[in-house]
Amino acid sequence: QKFVVVTGGVLSGIGKGIFSASLARLLKDSGIDVNILKIDPYLNVDAGTMNPNQHGEVFVTEDGYEADLDLGHYERFLGINVSRRNNITAGQIYSSVIQREREGKYLGSTVQIVPHVTSEIKERITSMKGEVLVIEIGGTVGDIEGEVFLEAVRELAFEVGRENFLFVHVTYVPYLRTTNEFKTKPTQQSVQLLRRIGIHPDTVVVRTETPIDANSLYKVALFSGVSRNMVINLPDVPNVYEVPNVLHSLGIHNLVGEKLGLKIIDKFSWNY
Ligand code: ADP
Repeated sequence: QKFVVVTGGVLSGIGKGIFSASLARLLKDSGIDVNILKIDPYLNVDAGTMNPNQHGEVFVTEDGYEADLDLGHYERFLGINVSRRNNITAGQIYSSVIQREREGKYLGSTVQIVPHVTSEIKERITSMKGEVLVIEIGGTVGDIEGEVFLEAVRELAFEVGRENFLFVHVTYVPYLRTTNEFKTKPTQQSVQLLRRIGIHPDTVVVRTETPIDANSLYKVALFSGVSRNMVINLPDVPNVYEVPNVLHSLGIHNLVGEKLGLKIIDKFSWNY
């Protein structure tokens, strides 16, 4: 099994969900058996108890699970039915660890974030089917809640082999009108934060309001230590259903395929 891990930097709500769903669609249309998982680092067990003004409307899966609206993106973009298994929250992970502790399953150990919580996360991840599992980690790198999940995927990449993992970091590059330039510093700092916890991204997806200049992308590549062809600009589009087309024209499925050693048979067809 191979894994694509999508993290976010700089700001929340920059389009990680739309990107992850679109990338998964491209991989599906490249003849790959793809599955997708959303990790929400909040302590709620599911999104059912949350005010819709916070994370958007709840999406209800066919098995009656109340999830983050990203699961709706996955269904629409991938043409599949997702279930409760396609979403992990910190609330679920901690409940399950505490329940195991109460049952005496840790056999007298001191139960700790590392290794017990991280192991629980890794077990949930590796129990998912699919030749390629796309994992979207909610929130932004640097959030306290998200740290344990990043540590778990970092360990998993070490255990299953780094060559089976592709880390995609989605960031935002603001445009400063007064000086007429794109500002890459927040992106540089966010990549540094990721590297400090032991994850070196393979790809940086730069979200911008309008298309960015090549020089700014070069700067992102240079300071992130990511090759220039793996730094991709994804500007705002008027309709999010255009994103799969944009990513396809950028050939991101080929880049991912090459990096993960996948056989890509391009039969992309996306009509909405
Ligand atoms: P995240 O998962 O990072 O919180 P989402 O994928 O839920 O972000 O997207 C946040 C909002 O931005 C949504 O309303 C979505 O429709 C919009 N959006 C995402 N990507 C784009 C894009 N490339 N162009 C325009 N709007 C986008």
